[in-house]
Amino acid sequence: MTSSASFQPWSLAGRVALVTGAASGIGRGSADLLAWAGADVVLVDVDETGLKETAADLAGHGGRTAEVAADVRSREQVDAAVRRAVDEFGRLDVVANVAGITLPAMRGRIVDTTEDDLDALIAVNVKGVFWGMQAAMRVMEGNGRGGSIVNITSTAIDTPLPGIGVYAMTKAAIVMLTRTGACEGGPAGIRVNAVAPGFVPTSMTAGHARQPDGTIDEEEMEAVNVEMARLSPLARVGTVDDVAQCVLYLASDAARFMTGQILRPNGGVSMPW
Ligand code: NAP
Repeated sequence: MTSSASFQPWSLAGRVALVTGAASGIGRGSADLLAWAGADVVLVDVDETGLKETAADLAGHGGRTAEVAADVRSREQVDAAVRRAVDEFGRLDVVANVAGITLPAMRGRIVDTTEDDLDALIAVNVKGVFWGMQAAMRVMEGNGRGGSIVNITSTAIDTPLPGIGVYAMTKAAIVMLTRTGACEGGPAGIRVNAVAPGFVPTSMTAGHARQPDGTIDEEEMEAVNVEMARLSPLARVGTVDDVAQCVLYLASDAARFMTGQILRPNGGVSMPW
């Protein structure tokens, strides 16, 4: 029987969440949904203007928010963001490591990848998530309650595609970090899971249609979206909310027996066992 009590575990009332990449796309959508579920949310990103827009979006949900301009490549800045959550809101229950970057496909073939591009992807996508996990686990290990860490990987981990090898490699690294974190954090009640989204139109994916002058070719963007939708049995691309729902689930007590797992909101584009 379904009753309102069945939804109680999805509530984040009284909890504090920190979301990186919160100024845009999946990070913004996740922060919004976590706040809607009752959490106070610390918003972390390099994009200060976008952070303010996200904070304005969350204002209607009734919880508290804090904006922290920080670069996840920097261990010191990530540590400071986590400290801010504890200092300002008194606790930290959820950390969603969402910030990530990709490269234009034409620069991404293995033979074409420069050392700068390789380093840039590793710095944000791997080290950024690593610092987020490390800072979160240090706080959560000592709090007597544990917590939930949600890392954003990608459907790129399932299907090798020309041009995104380095991106996929960084996202595969996140899977192993997630599993190891689950093993190490479990005894302290820390759950660590990952979400592997399929194609979701955001400013990141708009990069596929970015012109040399920086503008987006809307027709080309639409063609990419149609092409990506064709890969899904549901014949559509994803939305930010499709992914945020998975983040909320993993963040909440509804997922209390889930750790070391990968959720795949990808429209069936890949279906691993
Ligand atoms: P997005 O709209 O570009 O959002 C990413 C946010 O992260 C931006 O606000 C970006 O700021 C910020 N960011 C980048 N580097 C950062 C750094 N060093 N420190 C702090 N913040 C930083 O992209 P998205 O599509 O929402 O992607 C979010 C995550 O989902 C990424 O990890 C991505 O790999 C993953 N993902 C996306 C898709 C998709 O189809 N969209 C699919 C699978 C996985 P700037 O804009 O200023 O750089």
